[in-house]
Amino acid sequence: MIIVPEREIAGLISASDCFTAIEQVFASMAAKSAYNFPVIREAIGYADALYGFKSGFDRKSLALGLKSGGFWPKNMEKGLTNHQSTVFLFDADTGRCRAAVGGNLLTALRTAAASAVSIKYLARPDSKVIGMIGAGHQSTFQLRAALDQRPFEKVLGWNIVPEDLSRLEAVASEKGLPFEHVDLDRLGAEADVIITITSSFAPILKAAQVRPGTHLACMGTDTKGKQEVEAELLGTATVFTDEIAQSISIGEAQHAINAGLLAVEDIIEIGAVVNGSHRGRTSVDEVTLYDGTGVGLQDLAVASAVVDLAIAKGVAIEVDF
Ligand code: NAD
Repeated sequence: MIIVPEREIAGLISASDCFTAIEQVFASMAAKSAYNFPVIREAIGYADALYGFKSGFDRKSLALGLKSGGFWPKNMEKGLTNHQSTVFLFDADTGRCRAAVGGNLLTALRTAAASAVSIKYLARPDSKVIGMIGAGHQSTFQLRAALDQRPFEKVLGWNIVPEDLSRLEAVASEKGLPFEHVDLDRLGAEADVIITITSSFAPILKAAQVRPGTHLACMGTDTKGKQEVEAELLGTATVFTDEIAQSISIGEAQHAINAGLLAVEDIIEIGAVVNGSHRGRTSVDEVTLYDGTGVGLQDLAVASAVVDLAIAKGVAIEVDF
């Protein structure tokens, strides 16, 4: 069995490797070669922790396994990150444990890769301005990966705590781009692409604030009750997602479905666009919205890529297990 510790991940895998892995697994999901198993997530009644598993199997790449982990709110006091996860991969031919891989950085990278894939396939080719809503831990990963997808010329940002926007300003300046802190009216009026990455439980962005032709990647809503954009927006936009079952239960679409503004049949898996079986955006005025809920197969895809890289670079720790 191979161990790839968390400390090795940053030196092994790039955002571009993750992009390729996520693009492939989304295509595999839409082709029904890969599927996610039901998610388990429980409040364990200790340390205020939430703990669970996300798992699945990709018959194409033979990635089989699970991501185990969750959220420990008191970890900061111990000098640890609150989100903790580990990916376990199993040999699809024998069921033997193949690898244990640190999953913290990989979670950030695979989430960023998902919104980047949506931008590649759905944003207008002439997109110049990107708007970021949210400036927490995940936001810098989302922005970095997005900036590789179009020749953006400006970054706009809004956050409930404006001071935190300095994180995004730093990423923009790394890339030589101007950054502006704006209100939501201006962000919606000027952005060609909008990424939402907050832990909000009430809509932040209103449908009327979004202009025709915008692509939105809504990435923060991954739990029942969370919401980042007004449900009406999903009623008028063309809605894409990673997995439809998650989109309607824990994703941004849950609210539009409950309000009768969106039909399940109208939601499209992004993998269908990657596969070429759906056209994606059909006009310059269309609003496209990617509801990124985060699936276990994404974790398995990037962890498998890391294991291959660790073996190739001679840093995989082999244990007799
Ligand atoms: P974080 O705690 O570091 O940042 C949270 C962000 O949300 C901050 O910008 C904060 O100011 C903002 N926020 C908090 N409460 C808000 C409110 N009521 N209204 C508006 N903004 C508010 O978290 P993070 O690691 O950056 O993750 C952000 C979100 O993304 C979380 O909800 C997380 O669960 C989700 N997430 C989704 C995926 C996925 O695959 N879709 C993966 C990882 C994280």
